Amino acid sequence: MPRLGAHVSTAGGVSQALVRGQSIGCEAMQVFTRNNNQWAGKPLSSTEIERWRSLVQETGIQPVISHASYLINLASPNPDLWQRSIATFVDELERAETLGLLGVVIHPGSHMGEGEVWGLQRIAHALDACFAATAGYATLVLLETTAGAGQHLGHRFEHLAAIRSRCCQPERVAVCFDTCHVLAAGYDFRTDEGYRATLAEFDHQVGLHLLRCFHLNDSKHDLGSHKDRHTHIGEGYVGDDGFRRILNDPRFVETAMVLETPKSDDLHEDVENLARLRSLITPEL
Ligand SMILES: [Zn+2]
Ligand SMILES: [Zn+2]
Repeated sequence: MPRLGAHVSTAGGVSQALVRGQSIGCEAMQVFTRNNNQWAGKPLSSTEIERWRSLVQETGIQPVISHASYLINLASPNPDLWQRSIATFVDELERAETLGLLGVVIHPGSHMGEGEVWGLQRIAHALDACFAATAGYATLVLLETTAGAGQHLGHRFEHLAAIRSRCCQPERVAVCFDTCHVLAAGYDFRTDEGYRATLAEFDHQVGLHLLRCFHLNDSKHDLGSHKDRHTHIGEGYVGDDGFRRILNDPRFVETAMVLETPKSDDLHEDVENLARLRSLITPEL
């Protein structure tokens, strides 16, 4: 069975996320390791790091991934913003490595009018700078599939493949598949035929072995809308069948799948969405 979980808040310290994650039944988890709307992040204290490590053992929640700050644009044509993005992403990778995370999920970036080819090259250059600053790290860069709003790259599987092949250390780059974004980008994986075709296309462009995690989100908008609006499992245009095929695909039995759906403070929506996903898994006979 795939390892299911959710994006969990780190309020009260990053290690609190593991306590929270366990309370709602997470087997895998995603966090922000820093404030996702600020350039500068407060360093992780050694107490927090220690507590994190012992709680990972205690809860068995793994893998854990982080999601990079939304301010980062590795494709930015503006030299200052590009350098700031690189520095902030290096900080993200350092935190992830310290906490032993599988990787850092990042939206590839927006070319801001400079064009796709230019943007993809720019992102690969940025990643090269990040890798040079973090030599020997085990934590991965997880390029996220995007909905393709505006000039954002990553809504075609070939974008992800191009970034990976153009950077100097492709072995440090893998992919996070967001179901809401992929549907909004125009890939219809909701039927048997469509599912086969979408995954075959991913395999052809990127390689299925590089699909290291999923964001399981239903979508408020239909196929090809290019709008990034998440909703609860089964309540949007992905629908139960769209999730059922992924959850029961033997190629993803060990893969982390996390929710990024709307939630309130008591997290009851996460509990309900996880129960709904688990109900879609057909037990092996
Ligand atoms: Zn994302
Ligand atoms: Zn996502």
